Amino acid sequence: IGTAELIDGKAFAARIRGDVASGVARLKGQGIVPGLAVVLVGEDPASEVYVRNKGIQTREAGMNSWEHKLPAETTQDALMAKVADLNADPAVHGILVQLPLPGHLDADAVINAIAPGKDVDGFHVLNVGLLGTGQKSMVPCTPLGCLMMLRDRLGDLSGLNAVVVGRSNIVGKPMAQLLLGDSCTVTIAHSRTKDLAELCRRADILVAAVGRPRMIPGDWIKPGATVIDVGINRIEEDGRTRLVGDVDFDSAARVAGAITPVPGGVGPMTIACLLANTLTACCRANGLPEPE
Ligand code: NDP
Repeated sequence: IGTAELIDGKAFAARIRGDVASGVARLKGQGIVPGLAVVLVGEDPASEVYVRNKGIQTREAGMNSWEHKLPAETTQDALMAKVADLNADPAVHGILVQLPLPGHLDADAVINAIAPGKDVDGFHVLNVGLLGTGQKSMVPCTPLGCLMMLRDRLGDLSGLNAVVVGRSNIVGKPMAQLLLGDSCTVTIAHSRTKDLAELCRRADILVAAVGRPRMIPGDWIKPGATVIDVGINRIEEDGRTRLVGDVDFDSAARVAGAITPVPGGVGPMTIACLLANTLTACCRANGLPEPE
């Protein structure tokens, strides 16, 4: 029985953050400071943690960071006005509205109000369309991080069978677009998919983005496959709270060729890619060459 190689997202993300920090330092030499504004509505505890971490890492990379905290009862008009202010502010190169928004707000309308060039999450319908047609866009951070790890491990992805489990707009769909762009044969699975186990067993690349703890066991995995576990699930086990992925790590690691751990896999890459997107947005806004 083989033992999978661990894909160290933490170390990879640290390298990306280092590259971003160098890029930021070069821009500062020209008098330009990249800036990221994050808008948080309400008091979702997980979102507060994410937003805090984003702020810390943004500042560590040498960029300006602003956190706009709005009360849960904020109106659609007030939120749209906040986005309009940030669109108009030349010091702000990236705008991120933390999702999910409270139920009374129309998230699509808010996201589509962000200036597409500042949409560092890549969720604006224009960026979605650009990605889908293979044009230069802002690429959503989580799938971008997954793609970077896959390219790093596998090199050329062309012709590989990729199965993406999950079809959300923020992970599953853009992940599938990126893999298609790298010439994988892509299947997107979801809650109505038949014979999911069989489908997964054909995957050279398996990306799990479901939100169900340890849903995918080792015997759904093709021997030697590369497994990217996007899931972050908080569970109670042995009297304590643990974070686990959508893949049953222990059984999967005996079959896969390589696998991302949770935590320490996709999670840190997501924030690193957010910083990279902010740097890219700043370069584009200033007509400067983009970092690779
Ligand atoms: P969503 O809830 O938006 O989407 C989940 C998807 O999983 C849906 O498409 C759903 O299908 C599908 N699904 C649900 N149950 C099953 C099932 N039994 N079999 C097959 N497919 C199923 O989640 P997100 O995409 O936003 O997030 C997915 C996971 O990734 C979560 O755990 C989230 O916390 C994590 N995440 C991690 C990030 C990171 O930085 N590492 C960033 C973003 C998310 P259907 O469409 O039919 O309902």
